[in-house]
Amino acid sequence: MTTNDAEDRRLLVSMSVGQTAYAVWAKQARRERFFNIARLLEASAAVKRVRAEQAMRRLGEVSQTQTNINHALAGLEPETVTTGPVTGTSAFQRELLERAAKALAAGRDLTYRELGDLFVCSTCGHLVEGEVPQFCPQCGTVREGFLDFRIVDGMGTLSSYTIVRRLEQGLKTVPALVEGLSEDQLAMPVNGFPAFKDLIGHLTDMDIVFRERAWLILETDQPKLSTAHPPTLRHAVKYRTVPIDELLERYTTSRQQTLNLLRGLTQAAWQRIGHHEIYGPVPLLHQGNWVVSHEQGHLIELAQMRHNILYGENHALDIVQELLHP
Ligand SMILES: [Zn+2]
Repeated sequence: MTTNDAEDRRLLVSMSVGQTAYAVWAKQARRERFFNIARLLEASAAVKRVRAEQAMRRLGEVSQTQTNINHALAGLEPETVTTGPVTGTSAFQRELLERAAKALAAGRDLTYRELGDLFVCSTCGHLVEGEVPQFCPQCGTVREGFLDFRIVDGMGTLSSYTIVRRLEQGLKTVPALVEGLSEDQLAMPVNGFPAFKDLIGHLTDMDIVFRERAWLILETDQPKLSTAHPPTLRHAVKYRTVPIDELLERYTTSRQQTLNLLRGLTQAAWQRIGHHEIYGPVPLLHQGNWVVSHEQGHLIELAQMRHNILYGENHALDIVQELLHP
């Protein structure tokens, strides 16, 4: 092994670990609803992934696919020794992370004014804020070679078609999740986590907030979206005493109204803009991604809770995002 190989080997290890670290930190930031900070951490994970890939290629670990598959079958994945700190953070990345630290110290996310669109060169991992350059200042790659982490995509990049389909699916998934559980089981918080009923009431609350915002965006010109925080899980404890049939009815009715508003909208309508205090001017599509990704997270939690109730197991529940958010 030459000195360069040793250095590349070290880089591969530290960048691979770094990529995992930043990716899982990004997921956690999403749970805590720091969506702009999550976007920064996702871009940082991409920087490390690109650098790890470069090191892999220099080490000669990337051959034709047939050879790669044979290596994989033979269990010959590159050996990595996971030691040492996560390193390789550039001065600019540090500056962005310091902005995040400052916002978090004040208990809030970065705003769209504090963290612009981010772009990562897919060839060399160079990170840019603001506008994507015509050519990468570091390696010369064209603009088309950049991965983007834009503010408008901060809630996800599902199409309007997929958003409507997911909202429809909820109408089947939610009743299926409560099927066969007693009122007592549904009202019982597990290990300090919310009760089933809290979450179902909460999903309805969020559906209503989303529909109100969607209506404003569609019917008025560039509205300011409610600055008040959407109802949190803490506000959903009151649903614990409501019969489950009533909660399901409330969810279904709200969701049908939301779907009635969204079905058949043109692409232009999905691009209509509302002004959000943290995310800035965002299209309806952004808000659709927001409500769908929020619901998806809670449906997964509900499925885990159901499993624990039915089989008496106690898998560690994923921390519910609102509990972490005062
Ligand atoms: Zn580059």
